[in-house]
Amino acid sequence: MIQINDLEKSYKSGTEKVEVLKHVSLTVEDHSYVSIVGPSGSGKSTLLHTIGGLEPIDHGEIWVNNQAVHKLKDKQLAKLRLNEIGYIFQQFHLLPTATALENVMMPLLNVFSSKDIKEKAKESLERVGLGHRINHLPSRLSGGEQQRVAIARALVTKPSIILADEPTGNLDSETGRKIMHILEDIHVNDGVTIVLITHDESIAKRANHKIELLDGKVKVETVSKV
Ligand code: ATP
Ligand code: MG
Repeated sequence: MIQINDLEKSYKSGTEKVEVLKHVSLTVEDHSYVSIVGPSGSGKSTLLHTIGGLEPIDHGEIWVNNQAVHKLKDKQLAKLRLNEIGYIFQQFHLLPTATALENVMMPLLNVFSSKDIKEKAKESLERVGLGHRINHLPSRLSGGEQQRVAIARALVTKPSIILADEPTGNLDSETGRKIMHILEDIHVNDGVTIVLITHDESIAKRANHKIELLDGKVKVETVSKV
């Protein structure tokens, strides 16, 4: 479960302080599928970064699976991210010089023996339908395939939560739909909690819970499906 209590977050820009998240409180239940919508600059990505402990906060509490993210030190945060959270980004963020398989192996380096890592990475790529592309470099893959590699990389650690920041934002609508099917399949069949930022209303409304941010505040929360 993700629990956020009275979160405040600002960025310093020169001498100016820009308040981005203002008194945000919300709960994401286990095994749920939540979308976050809101205008550009409303603080959606910042909110996701704070949940993953990628950004320090000014005030409030963030709990992820009973761990106080706001209090964790770097090493503990790295462990939390490894064990509990998978991240997916709009721009895929793959290492261009590494093959699909090597990209997916990356989060497991230094955790398991190298033979196990290869097997797990292969399985993860097969899970997203890319078993036939494991030795391709990202530049030899289509956008949708690159995003599938990124999903495989997020899944390889068996996270309980996937945080996805506009995962279909760089894809045409048909490819975007395929990516959403994969994510929804992971949610339904593996019970993974999904928190997904999107500008696409047709995607947002497929989630069972929608959170609308406006000017750093939760404006509306709708439960559309249970
Ligand atoms: P978009 O839909 O365009 O992705 P967003 O809702 O994800 O927007 P954020 O990226 O969270 O918005 O940014 C919220 C505000 O915080 C913006 O005004 C942005 O300029 C500012 N901001 C984000 N990151 C930083 C940073 N590292 N330093 C300073 N200001 C930042
Ligand atoms: Mg953003």
